[in-house]
Amino acid sequence: MPSENCHPPGCNCSHHIDRRAFLSHAVAGTLTATIAMSGASAAAASPAPAKAASGERRFMEEATRLAIESVEKGWGGPFGAVIVKDGEIIGRGQNRVLLTGIPVFHAEVTAIMDASARLNPKALLGSEYGAGTILEMIPREAGSPDPVPERARMLKGCDIYINGAPCPMCMSAIYWSRIDHVYFAASLKDTSQIGFDDAFQYEDFAKPWEDRRIAVTPNFERDLGLKAYEAWMAKKDRHPY
Ligand SMILES: [Zn+2]
Repeated sequence: MPSENCHPPGCNCSHHIDRRAFLSHAVAGTLTATIAMSGASAAAASPAPAKAASGERRFMEEATRLAIESVEKGWGGPFGAVIVKDGEIIGRGQNRVLLTGIPVFHAEVTAIMDASARLNPKALLGSEYGAGTILEMIPREAGSPDPVPERARMLKGCDIYINGAPCPMCMSAIYWSRIDHVYFAASLKDTSQIGFDDAFQYEDFAKPWEDRRIAVTPNFERDLGLKAYEAWMAKKDRHPY
């Protein structure tokens, strides 16, 4: 295997595709989980033209197709997602909880991983922060309460289409990804009616720690945990994301 330094930024050679596969293999237990899901080209990091003002049905059709496939193949619940950039699908995800036995293998998370790998194939192992990658630093927006002046781009400029309302975990993943716009079809209530009850999680999040459904002990050994925060702040070349 060639050394890391022999590859220019944006290289999409088999070595780096292997690295992209590393993560999907580690998470999914199958090399097909992420790579086979997307038919988009690797050239999706090009400059963004003006964004469409409204959603497009064809993207929801693909999210729904992925969801139905997951049901028919016994891979998981009826949930699919696609991530769209500049009118092109750059990430696909489907619920694969039953296939993998991994409780967090939701469609939105999978789609985010797929899109991220495609836009930034070398960053998965923290090796490439350069221009055009999703870890490229961009300034915070005017009026932003962000405590740091610039941050990694992530999936800013992308939209996500989901056939059902996102659970709190997935909605949080969408925040972390800085996705611009969420389109979902079925409501949380629709989802409850087929036996997937995650609406209560949204309610639980609004409660104090001690009132949550899962026991939480806040500030347990706080000084110990803070040592990692000190290490981060002491790191001169830290890369805010
Ligand atoms: Zn979810």
